[in-house]
Amino acid sequence: MALPNRVYVPSAVEANGEVIGMGCFSSQATAMNVLRDHLKRSHQVALERASIAAWEVDVVGIDAVTVLSEYECRTCPVCHRTTFWIDLERFKAHCYGASCGAWVEESSVEADVINCGWPPTQFSEQVDSVENAMQALRRIAARAEAAGVAVTDPVFQVDDNVDG
Ligand SMILES: [Zn+2]
Repeated sequence: MALPNRVYVPSAVEANGEVIGMGCFSSQATAMNVLRDHLKRSHQVALERASIAAWEVDVVGIDAVTVLSEYECRTCPVCHRTTFWIDLERFKAHCYGASCGAWVEESSVEADVINCGWPPTQFSEQVDSVENAMQALRRIAARAEAAGVAVTDPVFQVDDNVDG
């Protein structure tokens, strides 16, 4: 079997600066899946940044690497876990926390149109700035909490209870 001449490398940086390697893969899709799996657990291991890079095999120096995407970790406006990851290239954020999935995304067709949503309640809204999107998500979370639905309830975290 021929070796690929390009490999995809997901990695994440812990809050203490330590880099977590996750392996290298022959397809970008696999690298993304491996990374996503890690991002789900960023409330258990404090992560600050993450990225996917493509490396050319047998090429020396910085020409060998291309950073394909970079992500930064924030606190989720809905579930308050540190599982809200922002794609820095084009504003696109998604909460990888179990049962949350809150998201904010720039419209790809219209300027100054930001979409946001929270799948468990089928909530979605169109606003004109990222700040307003974050506020809309905070509002819907507060409303859910006021209605007795605790968004941080352990029942929402069933999926990543690795010990149980
Ligand atoms: Zn969340």
